[in-house]
Amino acid sequence: MQTNTASQTPNGFNTLNLIAPLCRAVNDEEYASPTPIQMQAVPHLLEGRDLLGCAQTGTGKTAAFALPILQRLKENYQSAGKKGVRSLILTPTRELAVQISESFEIYGRYLNLSQAVVYGGVRQEKQVKALRPGVDILVATPGRLLDLYNQKYLRLDKIEVFVLDEADRMLDMGFLPDVKKIHSFITKNSQTMLFSATMPIEIQRLTKAFLKDPV
Ligand code: AMP
Repeated sequence: MQTNTASQTPNGFNTLNLIAPLCRAVNDEEYASPTPIQMQAVPHLLEGRDLLGCAQTGTGKTAAFALPILQRLKENYQSAGKKGVRSLILTPTRELAVQISESFEIYGRYLNLSQAVVYGGVRQEKQVKALRPGVDILVATPGRLLDLYNQKYLRLDKIEVFVLDEADRMLDMGFLPDVKKIHSFITKNSQTMLFSATMPIEIQRLTKAFLKDPV
């Protein structure tokens, strides 16, 4: 399959310069046009910029970050290597993790990139097995991710894109110490995105620490 930009996608997505396999997946979903956050975020994310997004679930936020992540992982393809992870999406709950992972499957269905999802409250064996060969995309809740990292079941030294989703809920649920620890293991030149519906002072501080010249 060609990965060049589809010039004749019959919907409003063709202004976004997405590669053909992504346009095709979006067409399958019958999205007529990008939502405002997709319109505003996708071009900058495709350029590799960091991003601070004030958006709630229901706005099309997931596609706003998933589409550019998939495109950049495909275009700059390199193997994740054993136990490696190329992009990490941290989200506070198991339900959100599963939902985001399903979205990556839908939007990435024509790309052949690998992905895994890990969260707490279940046995870890299947998750460990999924991580072993390395993955292009990992969606995770912070506690289980840290747990697996401490047991050396994954590496975070080659992360190209890091997403912190629902940062304010992370704060409310007491996950910020874990999140900061995880962030400290990630290379400083990775692309970083932070999404939060509200901006309490702790999250404002986090954005300063995590984001470089964000959009
Ligand atoms: P999210 O805010 O990411 O949880 O997305 C909420 C819902 O909007 C999901 O069911 C998506 O499938 C859907 N969605 C995302 N982008 C679009 C779009 N451009 N047009 C119509 N629906 C969309």
